[in-house]
Amino acid sequence: MKKIVVAGAGIGGLVAAINLAKKGFDITIYESKDRSELGHDWCDTVYKPSFPEAGIPLPTPEHFTPYRVMSCRGPKKNIKVVAKRSDRIFEEVAYIDRKFLAEYLADLAEKNGVKFIFGVRVLSPVIENGFVTGLKVLLYGKEKEIRADLVIDAAGIDSPVRKNLPKSFGIENEVKAEETLFTYRAYFARKSDEVTDPRYNTYFYHCRRASIDWVITEDEHIDVLVTGFGSLTKSAIEAAVADFQKDYPYIDTDKILRGGTTSRIPLRKSLPLFVGNGYAAVGDSAIMIEPLSGSGVRLSFGGGKILADTVTEIDGKYSLEKLWKYQYRYFKECGEDQISVDIIKSVLTSIDADDMDYLFETEVLGAKEFAETGSAKYTANELLQKVAAIAKRPKLLKPLANAGMSIINSTLACNAMPENYSVQAVENWIKLYKKI
Ligand SMILES: Cc1cc2nc3c(=O)[nH]c(=O)nc-3n(C[C@H](O)[C@H](O)[C@H](O)COP(=O)(O)OP(=O)(O)OC[C@H]3O[C@@H](n4cnc5c(N)ncnc54)[C@H](O)[C@@H]3O)c2cc1C
Repeated sequence: MKKIVVAGAGIGGLVAAINLAKKGFDITIYESKDRSELGHDWCDTVYKPSFPEAGIPLPTPEHFTPYRVMSCRGPKKNIKVVAKRSDRIFEEVAYIDRKFLAEYLADLAEKNGVKFIFGVRVLSPVIENGFVTGLKVLLYGKEKEIRADLVIDAAGIDSPVRKNLPKSFGIENEVKAEETLFTYRAYFARKSDEVTDPRYNTYFYHCRRASIDWVITEDEHIDVLVTGFGSLTKSAIEAAVADFQKDYPYIDTDKILRGGTTSRIPLRKSLPLFVGNGYAAVGDSAIMIEPLSGSGVRLSFGGGKILADTVTEIDGKYSLEKLWKYQYRYFKECGEDQISVDIIKSVLTSIDADDMDYLFETEVLGAKEFAETGSAKYTANELLQKVAAIAKRPKLLKPLANAGMSIINSTLACNAMPENYSVQAVENWIKLYKKI
């Protein structure tokens, strides 16, 4: 029986482990936290069809709360754009408690025979003759090497496995700060029963920082998200929360009910290479993220299932050549769509708060843009109006021209991705992909 070890109980790793265990693989997950600490301490939106598509039974309806209509504001806050969402979004997207989700997947994994070792820190991969052959872990204060036929890396943005892969693997070890969304999230208590209409309010460049923040008024708490593209200091968090408190005086900033922690989301298209000899990354470790919303659950589910299906089909050693099929399938089924979103994100993060106000005021950013990412359809007149508004602000022309170049390069890269691995073909493709 093939032995597979998973570094970290990340979502994609759990999904892969469940599907592989069902096929009889011997799977052990090494997780640094205790079981009760798994999962973020808040609720997030998830795409419900991801569950059956990834071979995971959909949790029962009481575990979901309905998706809310979002209103979006620029830095001046004076313009409120209410995004139009299709009925499909309201049916398919819902909030789920991340603690429940982590426990649900861990429980399912165990029922299917996956073994867990909690409270053990993965330190690095074990490398022999150019192959990852296991994990070095810190167990009860002692370093130990665990051998396996395949290492699945589901240890998130700062994975010590990815970070310590030798340069010869050609895998980017670090996620750069400028490709990262720094976050602070807290559920604050309420001082009164007051509610805003709409309840879900997103702020672009709140406090004139490059950020996407929000305030969501729920019956039991106020959900506050403060972010920063590339960095987020303690004083910036405090200033943002204080500013929200002025607009929403019923936020009890002295009483945090859940969360109150900082985290990081890798906000870019997936890594150009996330497989190697004996190694496959999934989830945040491979950067399976929607680069504007920061949503990673749907793509991690997709990645986990594709990884399990590919591994099941592999005979013999888990070589880079064979695991490339996983990366290729992920890219074609999930990753390609994220490129255009990443280009939009790059434009939005390369401008300043004044530009952002201008985009709101001239309706370059309006209900259509916030409707469903990447799905806006324009009449020729609407498009002309937007182009004319951008043309009147020369500062915006450079990021726009860069985006135009990226769109051309993305078409080239998507068409050129080799289905079968060869050193030269993949190297050439990576060069194209990095140019986007
Ligand atoms: C504030 C915030 C809001 C978000 N909102 C949404 C949303 O609404 N919808 C959505 O789809 N996504 C959302 N995301 C993103 C989503 O959480 C991730 O993309 C998704 O969970 C995939 O991450 P992961 O499971 O791969 O990694 P992680 O969640 O980082 O999991 C990695 C696991 O590996 C473990 N680990 C790390 N290092 C080690 C080590 N050395 N040894 C052993 N174990 C280790 C960790 O303890 C953890 O359990 C949000 C993220 C944040 C921070």
